[in-house]
Amino acid sequence: MNNKSDLSIGIDIGGTKILGGVVDSRGTIIDSERRDTPTEDGRKTISEIASVIKNLSSRHPVSEVGVSIAGFMSKDRKRMETNPNISNLEGIEIHDELEKATGLAVHLENDGNSAAWGEFKFGAGQSTNPMLMVTVGTGIGGGLIIDSKLLIGAFGTAGEVGHVAVKHGGDICGCGMRGCLEQYASGNALRRYVRGAIESTPARGANILAKGDGSIAGIEGAHITSAAREGDSIALAAFSEIGEWLGIGIAGFAAVLDPERVVIGGGVIDAGEILLDPIKSSLLRHSPMRSSHPMPEVVAAKLGNTAGIVGVADLARIN
Ligand SMILES: [Zn+2]
Repeated sequence: MNNKSDLSIGIDIGGTKILGGVVDSRGTIIDSERRDTPTEDGRKTISEIASVIKNLSSRHPVSEVGVSIAGFMSKDRKRMETNPNISNLEGIEIHDELEKATGLAVHLENDGNSAAWGEFKFGAGQSTNPMLMVTVGTGIGGGLIIDSKLLIGAFGTAGEVGHVAVKHGGDICGCGMRGCLEQYASGNALRRYVRGAIESTPARGANILAKGDGSIAGIEGAHITSAAREGDSIALAAFSEIGEWLGIGIAGFAAVLDPERVVIGGGVIDAGEILLDPIKSSLLRHSPMRSSHPMPEVVAAKLGNTAGIVGVADLARIN
């Protein structure tokens, strides 16, 4: 009998919560734990992660831990060079500190890459090559699997599809550039389009406003998705707009990478076909040789917000 457990831990460090799960080799989460992310303090965040790992590993025999986190990561997967959510995390040797605190082997990976691996291994991207994942949440992340391997890149930041410029001289982005896809096609962009439309024609906004606290600032992605399902014209137009931009972005990625399948994940894909249809239509209109060359399949992710945990737990097991 192999004395190595087939269970591993996956931890997803988000901007609001730390979610940990014990995951088996088929990608099933058999136990989990959740904490708030102490975003004001990177060191405190690391001790919270260590505490989640210790609790889960005290209940299950695990040897490896995967940790999924947003931002640019050093190529050796030991620390963050940037993180959009947590203060003072840059420069801390996260990998070494977590191994020291827990006594377990730790594998650190970017959140877009972790989710892409999860969908490739257990979700909507199984057995496809290459597989590109585009995660549309507050921002836009992604990951690329080529020949069953996660592409890390020469400097560790492959798959950052949200920071490809799609508009010359466009809106300023958190990354310091202008015109990034993230500024036009993310969940934040979706809300911005809806707010703008309601500000210019308030009478048409009643339906969406009634879903939240009645204020334009209180409009959330879920309200827009719900309104779009009821046929609300402002909500549908906003999904068409982000779908148009995503199609432009994906057409560019596809021209370079020729993916077999593109998996769309993140909170915004809860809208299903309402988002997929405009993406596919835009992709077709923006693809070179479209009359003679096959298009990649564009599908919704299957694992929802557990893709990162499941993916990084598996990466930890196989690395
Ligand atoms: Zn950017």
